[in-house]
Amino acid sequence: MSRNNKPILRMAAEIHKQYLVRSSPASPIEFSRVPYERCLKLVRQLRVAHSRDWHGAAECVRRDLIAALESHQRELQSLSTLLSNMAHKPAVVNMRDIYEELTALHDEFDGVSWHAKQGTLSVATESIRLDDVYLGSFEIQLDCRSLPNAHYEIIALDAQPPSCNESVTHPHVQDNVLCEGDAQVPIQQALSDGRLTDFFQLVAITLSTYNASSAYVTLADWDGVPCVDCGSNASEDYRMSCSRCEEVVCDDCSRSCEDCGDHCCGECLGLCHACENCYCGNCLKRCDHCGTRNCSGCRWEERCKRCHETTEQECKQNRQPEGQRKGEQELEEERNPASVPQVRPASPDTAAAVQSHGVGEAAVPAGLR
Ligand SMILES: [Zn+2]
Ligand SMILES: [Zn+2]
Ligand SMILES: [Zn+2]
Ligand SMILES: [Zn+2]
Ligand SMILES: [Zn+2]
Repeated sequence: MSRNNKPILRMAAEIHKQYLVRSSPASPIEFSRVPYERCLKLVRQLRVAHSRDWHGAAECVRRDLIAALESHQRELQSLSTLLSNMAHKPAVVNMRDIYEELTALHDEFDGVSWHAKQGTLSVATESIRLDDVYLGSFEIQLDCRSLPNAHYEIIALDAQPPSCNESVTHPHVQDNVLCEGDAQVPIQQALSDGRLTDFFQLVAITLSTYNASSAYVTLADWDGVPCVDCGSNASEDYRMSCSRCEEVVCDDCSRSCEDCGDHCCGECLGLCHACENCYCGNCLKRCDHCGTRNCSGCRWEERCKRCHETTEQECKQNRQPEGQRKGEQELEEERNPASVPQVRPASPDTAAAVQSHGVGEAAVPAGLR
């Protein structure tokens, strides 16, 4: 025996122990009569309730009985599964078989490692690339303490998760667990039979195959990022980031501001209250009068056009009479200051009005009265 075989022998001895423990006929089967007896009791109670026309009580018992039967059914089912798994177990997996399996494993895979403390046996796959998407290599880590059950993890050694889900490292691996699909039975069978090399090969083959219909994230969506507006996975050449909030927005959802042309997500764009075109938050301003948001074309300084026009009109109405009076008076005085008394006699009302102010008295010659 060469020096290198010693660790393999030790490994084989440890793994063999697991098979011995599990295939030992001493493994107890738990089977309790309690759930069954509870069902029987409820059946009796239901019979009594019916015979005495206790409709309310009968209804309560009926519901309890359904729950009890369902729970009992589940227990029977798991017992039945346990028993059928036991039937798959080989009578004996001997030490020599395991040793040979482990030797073959070293020939077949690089990076075979045994962690005695954790009881894990691992191999590393080659780098995997599916449909031109690089996924890196994976460590298949078998928990030997659970043998012959298939408890193992798939650990990405150079994780390349899709941007939309960090816990997915392979289309069929999420949270380090492989979705085995059709390989489930052969994988379990290989471990039950102590065919360790077959187990690792089956898992490695499953990792190098791709089925879009059962993928956690399809390869087509691998480099996709969810659009902030519609949630769809947008691939690199079908998305942009919003120029305001920098969230990813797909081409379908992104709109450009009618004014500055910046591409934005739906959240960051708004409609001008007046013209109803799309503008970014920078290009829409609130009217300080009515509070509506308006584009630069529909705004006059700090106000929307409507508020601006309304206030303009109000101002005109308030200011015009005063302005007109003032303007006319100034004009008259400028043009011909002496003409004022001359026109007055033509209208007695005006003359009286003027006289009452005491303006015309001095100006009107006494001879004309
Ligand atoms: Zn979108
Ligand atoms: Zn945005
Ligand atoms: Zn803008
Ligand atoms: Zn506008
Ligand atoms: Zn306004």
